[in-house]
Amino acid sequence: MSELKQKILDRQIVSLPKTVVYCSRCAISNQRPRIKIGDDGLCSACRFSDEKDSSIDWKERGDELKKLCDLHRRNDGRWDIVVPCSGGKDASMVAHKLREDYGMHPLTVTWSPFEYTDIGWQNFREFNKAGFNNILLTPNGKLHRKLSRLGFEFVGDNFLPFIYGQMAAAFHVAHQFGIKLVFFGENGEAEYGGDSKNNYKRGMPLEDWANSYFKGLTVDELVKFGEEETSILSCSDYDQSDLQFYRPPDIDVLRKSEIEMHWFSYYEKWVPQENFFYASENTGFKANPEGRSQGTYSKYASLDDRMDGFHYYLGFIKFGLGRCTSDASHEVRDGHITREEAIALIKRFDGEFPNKYFEEFLGYIDIDEEKFWNIINKFRTPEVWTKESGEWRLRHAIYSLGADEEPVYSSSIPEGSRKFI
Ligand SMILES: [Zn+2]
Repeated sequence: MSELKQKILDRQIVSLPKTVVYCSRCAISNQRPRIKIGDDGLCSACRFSDEKDSSIDWKERGDELKKLCDLHRRNDGRWDIVVPCSGGKDASMVAHKLREDYGMHPLTVTWSPFEYTDIGWQNFREFNKAGFNNILLTPNGKLHRKLSRLGFEFVGDNFLPFIYGQMAAAFHVAHQFGIKLVFFGENGEAEYGGDSKNNYKRGMPLEDWANSYFKGLTVDELVKFGEEETSILSCSDYDQSDLQFYRPPDIDVLRKSEIEMHWFSYYEKWVPQENFFYASENTGFKANPEGRSQGTYSKYASLDDRMDGFHYYLGFIKFGLGRCTSDASHEVRDGHITREEAIALIKRFDGEFPNKYFEEFLGYIDIDEEKFWNIINKFRTPEVWTKESGEWRLRHAIYSLGADEEPVYSSSIPEGSRKFI
């Protein structure tokens, strides 16, 4: 193993297929971790999308949710369900429906973004004003920056410390308040492509969190690596209590307290665009006033953090699959756009550099621009990238650019594609 490989801790990369193959229906390739493309040419997300339409009885699932809520609903003035929610379209819809349609008493928990955007903060406040109690958890900022730097430099994901807390913090709050249900939005592995083994489960088993959510690396492993192998982190930077909200709940504590994790997408068919309409109507959610987020054409997903463009950009670098590929592929599966429209959008927006917050990002993780590009290039694999005349190019872009063509990044929506928002 080369020195370079040793310093890449994302355990997903080594298990990627060596030959890039695209799904024949959507625009995802087999470089998305854990996804499988079958002999019929369909990826696991497209197969599951078919099952959502054909073999899942949503009425039955709704009844199942009603029974679950009947079992846990309290009328003694206490909360009975935790919904991790930042005020985004998805979780806002989940919290609102659980309250209005199922009569529950949600306590919403927000794991703070690294740096709020104005629209993210506004949506968070509007959601709160729609009548929800909320606990905003903000981790130790000094430690959080260092973990983000470690995630960026060695795992290829500056978002890793956010993901730790986003998954774990809600359970600690549930435990504290004696609440037995924690409701997340969608099963991302099923909806966007990944390991299918939990497609028919109601929530992610705790033993699968590290592989499915944390790129194979727990926060304790990241901290240990940071301390022992780098000069970025030292034991004087934090106390054990600082790590609590990043750590998944102890499995014995979880069993004893009978806290259950559920995905709302198990019970109701998950359509992101519908969630946007619902949240706009019911919780004051507003789309991105700038028209779209960098790297995609979408204006309503993942709006609240100034640092998240780099998370998506790193996905583009590591797997050749950027933010637009993920958004457009889901919309193909939902029947909102065609594959041809998706490819046109990907050619235009995927991998667009998130320059808007670049200076701020460099300051947040405390590196200079030269170091930034060295780290980025470390995560380009030869299966995905080739260097021609000093320029990096995707080896197998779905849009197959001509030799002298480059993707064109524009703030306008391509003509003829009007079915999406
Ligand atoms: Zn597909």
